[in-house]
Amino acid sequence: MTGMPTLDSPELTRLRRRMLEDFVAARGIQDPLVLRAMEKVPRHLFVDEALRERAYGDYALPIGDKQTISQPYIIAQTTQALELQGGEKILEIGTGSGYQSAILAQIVDHVYSLEKIPQLARRARKVLDLLGCHNVAIRILDGTYGWKEEAPFDAILVSAVSDSIPGTLLDQVAEGGRLVLPLEEGASQHLVRLQKTGADWKKEVLGPCRFVPLIGSAP
Ligand code: SAH
Repeated sequence: MTGMPTLDSPELTRLRRRMLEDFVAARGIQDPLVLRAMEKVPRHLFVDEALRERAYGDYALPIGDKQTISQPYIIAQTTQALELQGGEKILEIGTGSGYQSAILAQIVDHVYSLEKIPQLARRARKVLDLLGCHNVAIRILDGTYGWKEEAPFDAILVSAVSDSIPGTLLDQVAEGGRLVLPLEEGASQHLVRLQKTGADWKKEVLGPCRFVPLIGSAP
């Protein structure tokens, strides 16, 4: 990013509303907390200046280091899947651009976010500070280990795909809490929600999805 970015403009606000209508609400996202948060957060600030006009398109965009900012619909689908009411404490694995952290920060009380690539974490921090998202804490760490000192969390969102559920993360979910993550099976990926009730977990498969790989070493 060069210089002081355009925080917002009537044209960008218009593009953002159209993104929400055409690519998010039209596909069944109805949670008013999610829609309101996505209307408020200027998504264009989370991509490079040169890609700003494309920030409101129906696709993921590169953010450097072979990573991407997720497609608007994916952000909405995963956030809605967390079934937030407001006031929660959330753990996010894979800060990336910080866009999803900013969306979560509008809804919940505390967002704890882990990113393994230092330069992405640092850039996300800058944009979140610019937007005044002071309820987001970021650490540069392998997120598969979770954030033990802050556990348990009302919900955990994993923004990168793996072929198994990291057990360490399950241990950090509060009673009644949720873990939402993409899981890979052969060539396909599905978004899965696990809800903790006592010693049991309720598992729901929410639909197909597409994420970059989770690269971590926790069991
Ligand atoms: N939701 C993000 C996109 C996340 S892309 C956004 O809105 O921009 C997935 C991110 O997960 C990448 O930045 C990648 O570096 C990170 N990642 C992958 N494996 C990880 C791990 N084990 N721990 C922490 N971050 C990880």
